[in-house]
Amino acid sequence: MSGLCVIAGTRWIEMITAAAAAIGKRQDDLNALDSTVGDGDHGTNIAAALAKAAVSVTELPEPAPEAVLNEVGSTLATEMGGAAGVIFGAFFRGAALGTAGKAGIDAPQYVEVLRSGLKEVQKWGKARPGDKTMVDALAAALRAAEAAVAQQQSLEVVMQVAAAAAHQGAEATTAMEARKGRARFLGPRAIGFQDAGATSIALLLSAWSEVVCTNATNP
Ligand code: ADP
Ligand code: MG
Repeated sequence: MSGLCVIAGTRWIEMITAAAAAIGKRQDDLNALDSTVGDGDHGTNIAAALAKAAVSVTELPEPAPEAVLNEVGSTLATEMGGAAGVIFGAFFRGAALGTAGKAGIDAPQYVEVLRSGLKEVQKWGKARPGDKTMVDALAAALRAAEAAVAQQQSLEVVMQVAAAAAHQGAEATTAMEARKGRARFLGPRAIGFQDAGATSIALLLSAWSEVVCTNATNP
């Protein structure tokens, strides 16, 4: 009955904890990616902000998906600071909009989470696919998730294909010149290095895809 599988209740808190742990483990690698084309702080920034968010979501009185994702968005905006804080915060606030009023998220609604997260990122950051940013990972994840839902795949499969596509989208940034973020000042010298923010998004979606969903008829 995988078609009835949803992510409900405190699962979203577990997903934030899992993402914080996965990104925390890789923070040195993310710093190294950012140091080749940026200022070398991305791993430290996002790992610290997500660790803080993972604590603050446990203090919410009503941890509906929307409230959890909104809390992460505002924590990231404050803790990461700068342009990246605005943009990573926008992803989570957009994702929250994609869950508005829902107690549990099914496969089509997960597509809405990605779509709405990407939309908010583009609204604030103005990056397009091909600009060597996290948009490259998110846009690839969204396309793959849409295709999987069109084929009536289960939520687990939709989340897995979205994560795999995000990794491919992040890898594809290696060949790109940056048109947004600090790396844009490097011109063609940014070619050959994978974008740090796109890599974080891929790690995040992988961590999310490992969460165990709940059967809606038997929570
Ligand atoms: P900063 O650039 O302020 O040091 P970070 O190093 O934490 O911030 O984050 C850099 C990441 O932010 C980049 O790798 C890129 O993926 C993402 N980024 C930067 N600018 C934009 C933008 N305009 N739109 C989307 N993502 C962006
Ligand atoms: Mg940086």
